[in-house]
Amino acid sequence: MFISVALNLPLRREFDYEVPESLSDLVRPGCRVRVPFGRRRMIGYCTEILEKPRFQPVKPIIEVVDPQPSVSPELMELTRWISEYYFCSWGEALEAVLPAGVRRHRRRRTVRVVVPAAPPDEMLAAIEAIRDKAPKQAKVLRALLGYREAPPLSELKRVAGCPITSMRALEKRGLIEIATREIETELPLESDVAESAPPAEIAMNPTDEQEKALEEIRAGLAREKFAVYLLHGVTGSGKTEVYLQAISDVVARGRQAIVLVPEISLTPQTIQRFSARFNRVAVLHSRLTDSQRLASWNMIRAGRADVVVGARSAIFAPAPRLGLIVIDEEHENSFKQDSTPRYHARDVGVMRAFRTDTVVILGSATPSLESYHNAQTRRYANLPLTRRIADRPLPPVEIVDMAQDYAHNHRPHCISKRLEILARDSLNAGQQVILFMNRRGYSSFVQCPKCGFVAECGRCDIAMTYHRRFDVMLCHYCGAETRPPRVCPECANESIRYQGTGTERIEEEVRTLFPSFLMARMDSDTMRGRDAHETTLAAFRSGEVRILIGTQMIAKGLDFPNVTTVGVVNADVTLHVPDFRARERTFQLLAQVAGRTGRGDAGGRVVIQTFRPDDFSIRVAADHDYDTYAEQELSERRALNYPPYSRLVRILVQSKNEQAASEKAKLISDAMRRHAPHVGPGIQVLGPGKATIEQIRGSHRFHIMAKMPGTSHVRQLLGIVAQDIAGARGVSITVDVDPQDMM
Ligand code: ADP
Ligand code: ZN
Repeated sequence: MFISVALNLPLRREFDYEVPESLSDLVRPGCRVRVPFGRRRMIGYCTEILEKPRFQPVKPIIEVVDPQPSVSPELMELTRWISEYYFCSWGEALEAVLPAGVRRHRRRRTVRVVVPAAPPDEMLAAIEAIRDKAPKQAKVLRALLGYREAPPLSELKRVAGCPITSMRALEKRGLIEIATREIETELPLESDVAESAPPAEIAMNPTDEQEKALEEIRAGLAREKFAVYLLHGVTGSGKTEVYLQAISDVVARGRQAIVLVPEISLTPQTIQRFSARFNRVAVLHSRLTDSQRLASWNMIRAGRADVVVGARSAIFAPAPRLGLIVIDEEHENSFKQDSTPRYHARDVGVMRAFRTDTVVILGSATPSLESYHNAQTRRYANLPLTRRIADRPLPPVEIVDMAQDYAHNHRPHCISKRLEILARDSLNAGQQVILFMNRRGYSSFVQCPKCGFVAECGRCDIAMTYHRRFDVMLCHYCGAETRPPRVCPECANESIRYQGTGTERIEEEVRTLFPSFLMARMDSDTMRGRDAHETTLAAFRSGEVRILIGTQMIAKGLDFPNVTTVGVVNADVTLHVPDFRARERTFQLLAQVAGRTGRGDAGGRVVIQTFRPDDFSIRVAADHDYDTYAEQELSERRALNYPPYSRLVRILVQSKNEQAASEKAKLISDAMRRHAPHVGPGIQVLGPGKATIEQIRGSHRFHIMAKMPGTSHVRQLLGIVAQDIAGARGVSITVDVDPQDMM
C-alpha cells in the first residue's frame, strides 16, 4: 500500500510513501504519519491512499501518529482549497487547522489491550464451539483475529459491539488476556470536559429591525443551503442579540455554530454573553493553555459543543454538524493571518460554508468594501440595522482643527481646549471619558522642528518611537534601543525633541488637566500580562477609573453606558500610511470609536482632533454616513482598479543583500509581465518597487503588486511563474493573495 503525504514545507507538492503491512489498517486520509524526509524525520498528513506510487523510489513511513484521523475529510478539502488559493503547500495549510496544543500534545498513556492467549487454530475451534451458546464472545474472538497487533480494549468492545462481561468471560476461558500497555498518543483517547451549568439568560424581545433580520436568517437556516447575510448594523444596534437568536435556532436543529470575533474582543465579557445563553460553549483563543485548548477541541470534535467562540483560527473548528458561521466585525484585518498560510478567516469561512451548505452571518457597523460590494451585487443578502437599541441617537461628532487650536494656545499639546471642556463636563457630572489615540508609536517620534529631521531605526527604516519614561527611543520592528539625540544630526539645531502624541504623553497631560480623577492607560506597553487587559477594563466598568486612554485596543466592541465623552486625539495619522486602504481604515476606526459613547441614557458626544478637518473620510465619519463614504470610496477603487474590482497579489522579496533582493524582484515581475497576456486580459503588474518599510532587521525589502480581474487569473499566473517565485539562496519570497498589509 502507498500513500501521498503533505508535509509542512514550502514545497507545493505531496510526497509518496510506502506503508508497511503492519500499519496498513491504521492509515486513512487525514491521519498524521511520521516519515523520513532527506535526513530528517517529519510528521505529515496522509492525503490519499494510492495503488501505486507516482514517483520512485519510495521510502516506507515510520509510524502512524494518530489513533484516528485528526483532520476530517471536509477540512482536508478546505485546506486543499486554501493551499491552491493562497499559494502555499497543502501541508502548510493543514498546519493551521490543528491548534498548536493539539499538535504538540504528546503524552504517554497506559491503555488496556486485548492479547490472544491461544494460537489461531485453537481460537477458530473455540469460535465454532461457543458460537451458539455465547454468540457475543464468538464475535469478540472473530474481531480479535482481524488484528495484527493487540487492539485497545475500548476499540475491540466498540468493533465487536460487546460488553466488558463478554471479555471477562473469554479471559476466564483462557482464550484472551487483558494486558496493559504504554502507548504514545498526541490526542487523548477521550476528553474529560465537564459541561457547564444550564444557562440562566433568556432571549430578549427583538426590535422590529432585529426581527426582520432574524426572519430572513431563520428562513435561510430552514433551507439548509449556503447563504451569506451581511448584518450591517450601526454600533449599539444589537447585532449580538441577532447572532444569539440565530444560534439558538441552529442549536435547536441539532447543529453547531462557530462565532469568530477579533482576538482583541475575545474578552471574558464577550464569552459570557454566549455562555449565559447556551449550555455547551467551547472557547478557542491564544490565551488558553495547551490542555484547555485540547479539551475544547475534543469537545467540538465529539459534537458535544453547540457553540464555538474563538478568534481567527477557530474557523477550522472540527465541528461535524456545522450549521452556522458568524463573523463579528467582519471588516477587521486581524482576520487575515500575517504568516503562511496567509488566509483570511472571513473568506475561508464563506468557502467552508459554501462547501457544507451552511449559513454565514457577517456583522459590522462598517463593513469592508468587499462585503458591501457583494451585498450590492446581491451575492450576499443585506440586513440593515439602522437604529440603536431604544432609539438612542448616534452621538454628535465635533471636528476640532488642531492647527487653529495650536495657534490660539501657542504651545504644542494633545488635548484641545474644546475636548478639555467637554471632558471636564462629563467628569464633573460623574460620568466617564475615553481618549483614543491612533496607534502607538506612529507619532511619538523625535523630530527637529527646524529642518524636519526624524530619527529612524538604521536597520528598519521606520521612525523610532520615543518612550519618555526611560528617555529612550525604541524601534518597534526590531527592538533596537538608543538615546535620543540632543542636537539635530542634520542641522545642529539644539531644540530637537520628540513630537506628537504617544499615549504616555497624553497621560501626562491629562493628569495635569484632571488631577483628581483616576485614569488608566491601555496599550501594548501597559498590557503585557495575561490579565492586565481585563483588570483595567473591570476597573473602568466599575466606575473606579474615570478616564481611559488607549490605542486600537479600546476602539472595538466595548460597551460602557456611562461614557459620555470620547476624544480622538489624532484622527489623521492613519491617513498618512501609504496603503490604498488608508481612508477605509481611518473611517472604520473613527466610526468604531464614536460607537463607544451614547450607549446609555446619559447620551454622549465625540471630539475628533485633526490637522485635516476637511478630509473626506473624517467628515463622513463625523456624519455617521457609511453609505456616502462607501459609494465615494468604491468609485475611486473602481477608477484605480483596486479591490473589490480586482484581486490583488503582493509578492515581497527580502534579503540582507540588497542587490540580490532587487534582482530577484525584477526577475519575478518580468516573468509575470511576460506571461500575463497568455493568462488573460486586464492583468496589471506593478513594480518591483521598494516596500514602504525598506528594511526590517537589516533585510532589504522589495515588492511587486499585481492586479488581476479574477481568482482564476491569480491561480494561473502564479502557477506559471511558480519556478521563478521559488526562493533563491539568501532571498526570501512571500506571496500574499488578497493582502491586507501593504507595508
Ligand atoms: P452591537 O453589537 O450592534 O454594537 P450590542 O449587541 O452590543 O450592539 O447591543 C447593544 C446593547 O443593547 C446591549 O447592551 C444589548 O444587551 C442591548 N440589546 C440588544 N438587543 C436588545 C433588545 N431587543 N432589547 C433590549 N436591549 C437590547
Ligand atoms: Zn529596527
